[in-house]
This record gives sequence, structure tokens and C-alpha cells, in this order.
Amino acid sequence: MIASRIQRVAVIGAGTMGGGIAQVAALSGFHTRLVDADLAAGLRAAQGIEARLRRGAELGKVRPEAVEPALTRLQVASGLEGAVEDSDLVIEAVPEDLELKRETFRRIVAAAPRSALLASNTSSIPITGIAAAADPARTLGLHFFNPVHVMSLVEIVAPDELDPAALEAARTFVAALGKEAIVVRDAPGFATSRLGVALGMEAIRMLE
Ligand code: NAD
Repeated sequence: MIASRIQRVAVIGAGTMGGGIAQVAALSGFHTRLVDADLAAGLRAAQGIEARLRRGAELGKVRPEAVEPALTRLQVASGLEGAVEDSDLVIEAVPEDLELKRETFRRIVAAAPRSALLASNTSSIPITGIAAAADPARTLGLHFFNPVHVMSLVEIVAPDELDPAALEAARTFVAALGKEAIVVRDAPGFATSRLGVALGMEAIRMLE
């Protein structure tokens, strides 16, 4: 059964997207663990988050009194297994490589609670292919956009096998981040990346 209330979030991969996702999760009240295959990358991401939050407070975009509590809620973990062991939600943001994502999900499923909701931030790989290495009833896409703290849209990718309770938990989480969700079916490129390709092609034709 999916955790009825998401409190602890683990983010796997501390690059452009993982750092951004961890930032908005910690700022929105979630205990957030960030982990990267390269510990130094995780620590750099945490420094980036701190700098963005402090700058956001100076610019009046982040409540100043929210900065320290958010930083307290954020932890950089040294290993994936320890990062996910008590999570309610795990968000994978490793590079766009199917085999890497499948291997990462195998490790997540082995180490995370059976009640944890599992998500991939993939831009284009069908979730069904990734979830085959995990638990399809609780695996979905949570497609954030860059920069995460600025972009309000999150595409929730819901494969046919998904438990409706998992979809509901994902909607509640996205709303708690103050973001707007659209729910799409699981197809390569989902809605946004496919539309982006169509738009790019049209721009190329116009240039021609
Ligand atoms: P990135 O290269 O900036 O970061 C990926 C991080 O994952 C790196 O720090 C790398 O060290 C780490 N990593 C690699 N293997 C790992 C492992 N086994 N365990 C833990 N960490 C590992 O990539 P990104 O731009 O953040 O993209 C991540 C995902 O988000 C991709 O699937 C991408 O398609 C998707 N995405 C990217 C964007 C974007 O604009 N960059 C937008 C939406 C979605």
C-alpha cells in the first residue's frame, strides 16, 4: 500500500534536475535526501541550493524565515541504499539512459520501503520500460522542468499498471510543491517533449 502521507523524499542524481527537485521539496516542508554516484556532486548541489535560496530571499522570491528550516531539512547522503531506506517518495534524476535507470530502480526497489512511491524524472523514456525493473503499480513519471524552482508545470506520467492511490499521492505531492500537474499517458516523449519536438521542427521549417 502506498504511504498515505509523503513526508520523506529521496532524490537520486544531484545534477541540474535533482538539485532543483531537492530544493523545492525541502522548501515545501519535506525531509529531503539527495544522493549522487559522486559524493562531491551531491555536496556541490547542496551548496547551489543554499546559494539559490539565499539569493531568492534577497530578491523577495523566498520567505527569508523559510531558508534555514529548508536547509535543515536537506541532507546529502553518501549512498543510494541509505538515502531511500525510510523514504515515502523516491525521485530518480540520473542521466537519460534506459539501462542506467533500470539498474537504479532495481537498487531502489531492493532498499526502499514497499510503501514508497517511485518516480522517474525522465524527459522521454516510457515509464513502463523503466518500471519493469521495479514495481509497476507504484512507479510513475514526475517530469519537472528546468529550472525547477521557476517552472510551475509538472507532467505526471501514469502508466496503465499504476495503482490509482499512487497517482493520487503524486498529485498531492505536486500540489504541496505549489506546482501545477498535468496527467498524461505513458508514451515516448509524453506530451511536453513531443510537443517540443513538433515546435522545434516547425521552427526549422520556418528558417528554411
Ligand atoms: P545531469 O547530468 O545534470 O545530472 C545527473 C546526475 O546523476 C549527475 O550528477 C551524475 O553524477 C548522477 N548519476 C549518474 N549515475 C548515477 C547513479 N547511478 N546514482 C546516482 N547518481 C548518478 O542530468 P539532468 O539534466 O539533471 O537530467 C536528469 C534526468 O532529468 C534525465 O533523465 C533528463 O532527461 C531529465 N530531465 C532533464 C531536464 C533538463 O533540462 N536538464 C529537464 C527535464 C528532465
